[in-house]
Order: sequence, then C-alpha cells, then structure tokens
Amino acid sequence: MNIQEKLKQILGKEIAQASNEEIYHALMTIVQEMATEKERTDSKKKLYYISAEFLIGKLLSNNMINLGIYKEVKDILEANGKDIAEIEEVEPEPSLGNGGLGRLAACFLDSIATLGLAGDGIGLNYHLGLFKQEFEDRLQKETPNPWIEEKSWLKKTDVTYPVDFKGLRVNARMYDIEVTGYNNKTNKLHLFDLDSVDESIVEEGIDFDKEDIQKNLTLFLYPDDSDEQGRLLRIYQQYLMVSAGAQLILDECTAKGCNLYDLPDYAVIQINDTHPTMVIPELIRLLVERGMDMDDAIDVVSRTCAYTNHTILAEALEKWPVAYLKKVVPQLMPIIEVLDDKVRRKYADESVAVIDRNDTVHMAHIDIHYGFSVNGVAALHTEILKNSELNNFYKIYPEKFNNKTNGITFRRWLLHCNPRLADYIESLIGDGFKKDATELEKLLAYKDDEKVLEKLLEIKRKNKEDLCAYLKETQGVEISPDTIFDIQVKRLHEYKRQQLNALYIIDKYLEIKAGKIPAAPVTAIFGAKAAPAYVIAKDIIHLILCLQEIINNDPEVNKYLRVVMVENYNVTKAGKLIPACDISEQISLASKEASGTGNMKFMLNGAVTLGTEDGANVEIHEAVGDDNIFVFGASSDEVIEHYAKADYVAKDYYENNPAIKAAVDFITSDEMLEVGQKENLERLQKELINKDWFMTLLDFDSYKETKEKALSAYADRKDWAEKMLVNIAKAGFFSSDRTIEEYNRDIWHLA
Ligand SMILES: *Cc1c(COP(=O)(O)O)cnc(C)c1O
Repeated sequence: MNIQEKLKQILGKEIAQASNEEIYHALMTIVQEMATEKERTDSKKKLYYISAEFLIGKLLSNNMINLGIYKEVKDILEANGKDIAEIEEVEPEPSLGNGGLGRLAACFLDSIATLGLAGDGIGLNYHLGLFKQEFEDRLQKETPNPWIEEKSWLKKTDVTYPVDFKGLRVNARMYDIEVTGYNNKTNKLHLFDLDSVDESIVEEGIDFDKEDIQKNLTLFLYPDDSDEQGRLLRIYQQYLMVSAGAQLILDECTAKGCNLYDLPDYAVIQINDTHPTMVIPELIRLLVERGMDMDDAIDVVSRTCAYTNHTILAEALEKWPVAYLKKVVPQLMPIIEVLDDKVRRKYADESVAVIDRNDTVHMAHIDIHYGFSVNGVAALHTEILKNSELNNFYKIYPEKFNNKTNGITFRRWLLHCNPRLADYIESLIGDGFKKDATELEKLLAYKDDEKVLEKLLEIKRKNKEDLCAYLKETQGVEISPDTIFDIQVKRLHEYKRQQLNALYIIDKYLEIKAGKIPAAPVTAIFGAKAAPAYVIAKDIIHLILCLQEIINNDPEVNKYLRVVMVENYNVTKAGKLIPACDISEQISLASKEASGTGNMKFMLNGAVTLGTEDGANVEIHEAVGDDNIFVFGASSDEVIEHYAKADYVAKDYYENNPAIKAAVDFITSDEMLEVGQKENLERLQKELINKDWFMTLLDFDSYKETKEKALSAYADRKDWAEKMLVNIAKAGFFSSDRTIEEYNRDIWHLA
C-alpha cells in the first residue's frame, strides 16, 4: 500500500479533514512499522553505547529522512493542504540530555545505524527530563519538562530486571526507541524506568522528595546534587542504568550462545563519560554470581569495556565517597576494593589509585585501569589527556589512549535543518555527499563562481528571515535580518565564557553611547541553560537578560546592536538558529573545551567561526585555513602554564585596562540595577575581578580586536560568501559517520 492510502486508512478519514495531531500520530505509526521491518537480527557481536544522556531531539522528520519517505510525505501533505512544519511542531522534544555529550550520543546512534553496524544505546527514561528553562524577572526559572505522551516513540517492553539497592529491590522495565539508519538497518535505544515513578510528587519548580526512591528514581536527569540526598540519588540512577544494562547485555549474549568467558567476542561496551562507570564492577559481580572466578571476571570485563573521556575539568570527573556507595550499592564495594587492591599492588603512584586516602572512589580511574581503550574527543583534548591531565595513566598504558574527534550527523544538521542549503548543494555536486560527507569538497570548484556565492548569501538571508519570524512568534522579540547574526548557543558554563561575549557587548554599548558608531549592525544571540545549582552561571544569564532589556529598548543603540537570549535552548531551537548564523562564537578558554560539536554544526551551515584554539576548533582551523576562521586568545599551553604557576591575576587586568574596567563596572551601574538584581550582579562582578577562574579578562583585548576584524570582513559580501563556501566544503571530516568508522576500526571491531 502506498503512503497516502496507508495514512488515510490509519486516520479513518481524508487527510485534509484530519488535525495536525492526528496526522503526527498516524505518521508515527507508519514510521514505526517501517523501522521495525528493518530491525537487524543477524549479528554476533554488538556494541552497547551506555550513556546517562541521549539528546535525540524530535524524531518524526529525521526518521522519515532516514527511511527515505520524507519528500513523499511532505508532498502528500502539501497536496492535502497540510504543512509538514506544523506537524513537526506537534511533537514534543524528548528531554533526555543536557548538552554536547548527550547530543553526541544521539549523533552516534544515527551514524551507527547508518553504517549498518549492530549497536544499541542504553540509558534511562527520565519522565521530566533535565528541566525546562523559563525567564522570569530576567532570571532562569526551572520547571519540569514532561515529554512522554500517551502515544510516543517509546515502546514499552515486557523485559524487566530486578535491581537491588541497600534494603530496596526495584524492577527496571525496558522501553525501546527505534533508531533508524539512513538507507539502512534499525537499531535500538533501550531506556530503563520504574513503573512506580510518580510525577505528582514534584512540588514547587523542580523540587521533590529526594528520598522516595521508588517514586523519584527516573523523574529528572541530573537531580540537584548540592546536598547529600541529591548525590545519593545520582548513584541510585546510575546503578539502575548499569545494572539493568548489564543484565540485558548478558542475556542477549547468552541467547546467542556465548559462554561468558567469550563475552568480548559478543559485546563491546562504550562507556560515555564516567556516569556509567559502575557497569564495570556490576558486570564483574554478575559474572562471579554466575560462577566465574573473580580474576577471570575482571579480565573478561576489562576486554569488553572502553571509556570515552569528555572533560579535563577536575570538578567534572566524578568521585564518590565510599560511604555513599555503601549506603546505596554495598554489594559493589567488595569488588571496587579488589579493583583498588590490584592497582595498588602494581603501582606505587597514589594518584592512580581507585580509592584514594580520603576514601573516595575515582570513577575515571576504574574506567582507565579496567577498560581496554581510553579516548579523548578531539586531537588537542587527547594530547592534553596524555601529556598532562592523565599523564600518570598514559605512562602506564600508552597503548590504551587514542583520539576520536567528535562528529555530527549531517542528516539532522544539514538535510533536515537546512533544506535550502542541502538542496542547493545537491544541485551543484549531486547527492553523493549524503553518504560520503567528504564529497562536500567538490564545492571548492565553485569558490570563484559569483552565481554560487550569491546563492549562498541568498539562502543564508532566507534562513535569517525564518529565524526572525520564529523569534517574533515564540518570544516576541524583533530583530532584523539586515544585521550580522552572531550566535553563541551552548550550556552556560564559565569555561565557555558567555561572560566574555557579554563584556564585549557592554563595551560596544558604551562606545555607541559615546558616539562611536559601529560599521555594521549586529544581533548577538545567546541560548543556554545553567545547572540549577550553578550560581554564577545563573548570574551570567541574568546579566545577558538585563543587557537585552537595556540595549534593545535604547533607541540610540538598538539601530546598531541588539541582544536576544533564546529561552530553553534545545535541539529543536538549535535546528532553527544554526542555519541562520553568520558568526559562530566558540570562545572557550583554550584547553577547557574537550571538543565542542556546536562549532561543527555552524561550520556545516556556512557560519564562520570566531574562536579560540580549543577543542575541535583547532581541527576546524586546520581544515579551512587562516583566511576562513577568526582565531584569538591565549593558547592552551599558555593557559596550562598560567594554571601551573597560578600567576593569572584578574584584578591586574581590571585595574590596568580602562575598557575592561568600564565594562566590568557597568555590571553594577545604575542602568543595570534598575532592571536587574543587585545581589546577582554584584556577585558576578566580584567573581570577575577577584577570581575569574576561566581567564575572561586575559583574552578580552584579543577577542575584541579579532571580533572587529570578523565584523568588518562581513561587509565584503563576496569574500564572506567564499569563507562560507570553504567552511561548508571542509565540514565533511566532522561527520559522525567518519567518527564512528574510526571507533569501529580501532575499538569496536564490529563486522
Ligand atoms: C550541539 C548541541 C550542544 C553542544 O554545543 P557545544 O557548542 O558543542 O557546547 C548543546 N546543546 C544542543 C541542544 C546541541 O544541539
């Protein structure tokens, strides 16, 4: 039956008579049927990608693209007076991730399926997600983000596993979301949950009884860990995920006839950051329970697990007090003690111990000693791991360390989010780039073709108009597509330095007020959630929202400068912002951003990067060359040296640089205090002057100078279009298909 007939049959009426909701649900049914038909059954060895986050975004359109029916469905809807964009609006975005790490996991699932590899995700089914961000009085307010509807992409299964905590046994139920590959097989994302979880226990905002484990366990991703109850809850969550996941893995392998000593021939487990680390002692425990002796179990598990490191921020590498683990998962402690003991027998170096002298368990150390691969996520990041952060481990296990530069799926981040550009590229170089992203380099042949350059500018212009309309409709803000769209969207963190961008905006505002009119008008767009307990990050959001209020309402200034903070930045919003971007802000303090993937999405969509030599920016710089990126700031070596010598003093910059002083002082000016909260603004100002842990002021001059260059380069439209073209053409390397091919070649070895 063709799709049109099938749709009508499911709807029980003419398409034209159906509501958008009805059509959405009918299309979901069709997609799920098609996806199920493509499920694989034939593989011996399978990858399990285990992650606390899967920031998958809306699924309908991406699945239709991957199944090859998007265009047909779009046309059918159009012929019946329906707009596919409006159908997309009906779908809620699954709120199963926080930022780059979760989005990476989602891109990887897409590429794994697209390459036809057998690989499933394992995670948790958070009912209320991370949180939904609302702005109230120019402050971030967190509310629950329910996304599971009566009929959703989740399929409830009959698969359940008992999971034991101290004094409490729960039953983990598995839900599945199908993961379609582009023109290929279907894999699965397995999400565990408890039937007893009860959303009604949530009170004010995102507060709930943290001790009612049966009811709260999978309510939220990253529950507030500023108190002990919250930290214990995170351990409960992590153990639920790994214990149910480990039981699933062993079940699937034994069903395929694996005797457990051969586990590495049947399964490879990629541990995404440290949250799933307990899968290592848990698997050992389960193997011992099934009769294997401890040493064999440790050996088998060590040959099955591989670890991806995502950060060098010490505070983000998880450590759990032994006392906490004893309160939640006492059965793991004897195993973790054996793991520590084995390390201590071999290595005198205290810094590589699993349990340190303060009785704290270092999760990453378990991963490194008892996994067979340790990878960083961009070339620079992996070098920093090897040479400084994890140097003591690198000296022990040089063969385990490897780099896998992150990537993004071009199905979502080009074909779906920017159909104008995708179609135009196809008209120039054919559709080969959809399967082999490096074919984008064929675009370089058009580098001097004025018609092509014109057309790229025209597409960007249309995308900017679309964004203007979207922001007007969703947030009531008015911006003009005639201005330069300068965009910084990513989680709010001091190391990502949204505050540097904000100081630049203040500086610009003060210049305009003093009569210095900028050459080109700019719209500075931000989008960022701050962790609910991260006080300074929330103060930075407050600062930006106050600037938005002051600047956009000042008729002297708003002709040249506007500020927009997009509420509740998520995958859906990213898909609308990125195609409309001119300048991509990637301004983390060098050495601190492990890779970044936002930088890749922007590049692919023809934005030009303004960035530090950090994470994958370094590789973007190498790919596009000096003429097609704007690089500034201290190098990672310089930054690492500043930390080592502890010789960076923010106050010196504040006192000796008049522009910096004026911008920092403005934070608590009368204008600001009129629209903002004194407590927040003063706290942020003090932080910048007295701590500035991520060296904002160090790079201020260099940032300002380089940003001015970028803004004036924009005026030469033909030259700018050439930069856009080179960025798009060189983006192929950053396809997650390439990343996954490398994971498979070097780590997973799937057939
Ligand atoms: C890609 C993406 C990120 C990661 O952005 P970075 O700039 O690499 O930090 C975060 N959130 C969403 C919604 C994304 O799509």
